[in-house]
Amino acid sequence: MSDKIEIDVKSAKIVIEQGDITKQATEAIVNAANSSLRGGGGVDGAIHRTGGPKIMEECRKIGGCPAGEAVITTGGNLKAKYVIHTVGPIWRSGKAGEEEILTRAYQNSLALAQKKGIRSLSFPSISTGAYGYPLREASKVAINTISAYLKSHRKIEKVVVVLFSDNDFQVYQETLKEMGLI
Ligand code: ADP
Repeated sequence: MSDKIEIDVKSAKIVIEQGDITKQATEAIVNAANSSLRGGGGVDGAIHRTGGPKIMEECRKIGGCPAGEAVITTGGNLKAKYVIHTVGPIWRSGKAGEEEILTRAYQNSLALAQKKGIRSLSFPSISTGAYGYPLREASKVAINTISAYLKSHRKIEKVVVVLFSDNDFQVYQETLKEMGLI
């Protein structure tokens, strides 16, 4: 089975692939941060480890980021020039506004990239690790939100969704099938 899927959305494309986001060479990578911006485990820990202390220096100056919002720092030693830090919702019951917050986390990351003139960026699967958002539901939100954004804004050319595990990649693939995109 292929571990990379490409979908055209107007003049842009969405790439879904299995891998490690810290190795991505898109102009920006998105971090699934927590609202203190003080680092953590999962993808956050990996980004700070690979990117080095400059990223944390800037995070300290910024101070914090509420759930659903996004902020930007240097990419430090990463291949990506920038890191966009966004904060997803912590999954509680599904009735605490989680879907709306997750949608805004993707939207605000894309809007910040666009504002900075960034043409390519990579997302991890926000909130589906420590924050416990069910992957299948989260994958629908991610794909719907990214494709809606690319349909109505023209500057971003490529959005990569990087899934760390094979299983996560399979689930995304099923969602894309259900949505009739592949
Ligand atoms: P959250 O707190 O938003 O749930 P996590 O970092 O715990 O964030 O998990 C989000 C997703 O990121 C999970 O699917 C996890 O497997 C994945 N992940 C962890 N490390 C990496 C990495 N280096 N590259 C891409 N994804 C990663």
